Amino acid sequence: METMDVPYCMPTRVKRTSPKQTDIEWNDGHSSSYPSWYLREKCPCALCVDEFSGERRIAPGSISSGIERVDVKLVGNYGLQFRWSDKHETGIYTFDYLRRICPCPECLPEGLSEPRNETSPPGIFEV
Ligand SMILES: [Zn+2]
Ligand SMILES: [Zn+2]
Repeated sequence: METMDVPYCMPTRVKRTSPKQTDIEWNDGHSSSYPSWYLREKCPCALCVDEFSGERRIAPGSISSGIERVDVKLVGNYGLQFRWSDKHETGIYTFDYLRRICPCPECLPEGLSEPRNETSPPGIFEV
């Protein structure tokens, strides 16, 4: 049995590359680069994932590529909590989870397809 105190995968560096991108360097030398829309889409909180079925409530492609990271903070020694420009901030992304969803070509050979930027298309608001 491994001890649960220290997760196997720990970041050595979390870099706020831009509001739309967060980079993580891991203690095993791996590096990950996460677009904000991707992390937001993968939010693991109870609002975004059904607690009982584990079903994801965010449809793929429904998060705008324009979403930005407003804040990020360390949670204990096991994860990160992000605040997004859509005001969502309840997701706690464990390091283990972050590593599992790493979208680099090695971890995700099929790659990511960026959703359309639907921040404020003209005509969406009915006044
Ligand atoms: Zn969420
Ligand atoms: Zn990777």
